[in-house]
Amino acid sequence: MQQSGPDCLAVINAGSSSIKFALYDAAGRDRRLHGQVEGIGTNPHLAWVMGDSGERFERRWAADELDHDSATREVFAAAATMPGVRLSAVGHRVVHGGIFHCGPVRVDDRVLADLAGLIPLAPLHQPHNLAPIKAIAARYPDLPQVACFDTAFHQTQPAIAQTFALPRAYFAKGIRRYGFHGHSYAYIAQRLHQVAPGLARGRVIVAHLGNGASLCAMRDGHSVASTMGFTAVDGLMMGTRCGAIDPGVILYLMDEEGLDSRTVADLLYRRSGLLGISGISSDMRTLRASSAPEAAEAVALFEYRVVREIGSLAATLGGVDAIVFTAGIGENDSATRAAVMAGCAWLGVVADAGRNSNAGKETGGRITADGSAVAGLVIPTDEEGMIARHTADVLGTAAKA
Ligand code: ADP
Repeated sequence: MQQSGPDCLAVINAGSSSIKFALYDAAGRDRRLHGQVEGIGTNPHLAWVMGDSGERFERRWAADELDHDSATREVFAAAATMPGVRLSAVGHRVVHGGIFHCGPVRVDDRVLADLAGLIPLAPLHQPHNLAPIKAIAARYPDLPQVACFDTAFHQTQPAIAQTFALPRAYFAKGIRRYGFHGHSYAYIAQRLHQVAPGLARGRVIVAHLGNGASLCAMRDGHSVASTMGFTAVDGLMMGTRCGAIDPGVILYLMDEEGLDSRTVADLLYRRSGLLGISGISSDMRTLRASSAPEAAEAVALFEYRVVREIGSLAATLGGVDAIVFTAGIGENDSATRAAVMAGCAWLGVVADAGRNSNAGKETGGRITADGSAVAGLVIPTDEEGMIARHTADVLGTAAKA
């Protein structure tokens, strides 16, 4: 890291095989650089893009040459290529904040221990989110780090939306519906407030449809219900996750098919969803391009599940004023949006095929017809940007904008 020049914030979003990162000004507003390391453990590949020039850089390694720790070091090396940058803080995406973390928090040893205690609640995400925090703390002990939680946005949900119908003692132990994709929803709530303030004050369902997928019901910009629950495997069908499933299926798999819990977890998180039904791919683009009937069946089930869960969230809101599509599929796949809007015609959604086919680019994101009782919109999400702003807020650098 260079020690002169303007202060910058780094944002790190670390997953099981990838680390997405970005560099922002101290206020967390202007993105100066962004990139990702993908294929950690299989085919490591780092790529980053300079914000001002659009210049692109890439590096590749053999599978055994780059682990998570060395990938974090490479991210810092990439950040150091920005001329004259002084890195003043790092904001991290952390999936689970548990019961006590209702907002972003500066990380110290106590917070880190607390968050490590939540690993059993998100075993496939939390350890990877925490690993770079530990690596950076060991190498740069004075660099402030801020943890921003996917669960935090949903803390506004009423108790009834958070409660499983289990014996009540389990709720106090933390076995409750948390909801995830909070950074995306927080960003969409802010953005909707800018582009359509009247709708933002109303009843909105946001469909975050990416590899991970969920819906959030918002009233006046606050989460009141979501499809993800205790873990990020609940709710919609996803790229490789099954979504909501009768718990009896899991008991059956364990008792009758002899699967242990690790095998069941692997089945539910990594071998189900679009991949499991198609047997071809977890990637929507690949399935859309395939002529195999299994690909079409997987896509049809994905769309069916979204429509069905929109119905459920519409009931919790007592009606809907707008449906917002975001994330990889929501922003780019007009066929999924068209199918979902057709399935929501009963709610008063009247799609506009032309507007939908170009993602509402000429109509401020609107993809429904002018008289549609429910507005449909496409709003690209920006999870890293939201984490940057939260980090600046916690450290008090937001005012330097
Ligand atoms: P992640 O949860 O990994 O951040 P993304 O939000 O990037 O996921 O979404 C990835 C999904 O978006 C994949 O299924 C991919 O096929 C889909 N996607 C991206 N671009 C397109 C496109 N142009 N058309 C259809 N699907 C797309």
